[in-house]
Amino acid sequence: MNRDIATPVRTKEIMQKYGFSFKKSLGQNFLIDPNILQNIVGHAGLTKEHGAIEIGPGIGALTEHLARASKKVVAFEIDQRLLPILDDTLSPYDNIKILHKDVLKADVEQVMAEEFAGIEDVMVVANLPYYVTTPIILKLLMEDLPIKGLVVMLQKEVADRIAAKPGTKNYGSLSIAIQYYTEASTVMIVPKTVFIPQPNVDSAVIKLVKRDKPPVEVTNEDFFFTVTRSSFAQRRKTILNNLTSQLPDGKEKKEDILKALEQAGIEPSRRGESLSIPEFATLANALYPYFS
Ligand code: SAM
Repeated sequence: MNRDIATPVRTKEIMQKYGFSFKKSLGQNFLIDPNILQNIVGHAGLTKEHGAIEIGPGIGALTEHLARASKKVVAFEIDQRLLPILDDTLSPYDNIKILHKDVLKADVEQVMAEEFAGIEDVMVVANLPYYVTTPIILKLLMEDLPIKGLVVMLQKEVADRIAAKPGTKNYGSLSIAIQYYTEASTVMIVPKTVFIPQPNVDSAVIKLVKRDKPPVEVTNEDFFFTVTRSSFAQRRKTILNNLTSQLPDGKEKKEDILKALEQAGIEPSRRGESLSIPEFATLANALYPYFS
């Protein structure tokens, strides 16, 4: 086996060889602990039948572990300066395709169709750039890509919000959006010391397993998400106050909102954080006729 990229010594050697300097604006915190990488890949449950999508390979630390564990890796990297480095560090592997693209702008579905022909099970595995973790995860889920799930490193604080249960302080529209598409769990807490440079925040790895179908039936998904976002606009406000102030023409439609709340069996004085996902679905379905 080749010498791991993700040791402090080898990472520093590579950085020096290429005169590479980190760009904070691109969320560049590279992993320098092969054990952590091994654990991340283990949680993804990859086999030689699997495809893997990586966002932000950096100098290839995680990429090479994915290449060893899967059939093929496709990695999106926005920073052009890293391309010649990756060419060099990943030269021992013949099952990696690096794409110089901003993942937020990329047509991931088309890339998957082109790159993963004949591969059924694809996982997204990444140490995400922290300035865009939520947009990346939501994009990959909302585009309904043929992926099995995601195992990704992100800020612990965001991981806590994603996996939060109703009635807790971290529960909000992000928890609902992600738990609507996936079963979410935090699988590792990761110390700052395994990165260079060290990030300012603690990190965690979450596993998101895509559901075959959503856990609740909603008449209109966009409206369901509008209702959940509106309900948390001001956490201390009641659900009635948030909905009247946030929904289009909400103030004029206060009576309709009250009727819908009654129909859904939800007290207008409750706060958004106390509603479960099935309760939000019932509420959104009751409100929808008044707002469509
Ligand atoms: N995978 C490497 C590791 O674990 O050491 C690097 C992870 S680093 C946290 C995030 C990487 O994402 C960087 O290489 C950065 O250049 C890249 N990146 C940032 N924004 C991106 C975007 N919008 N699309 C693709 N890659 C991006």
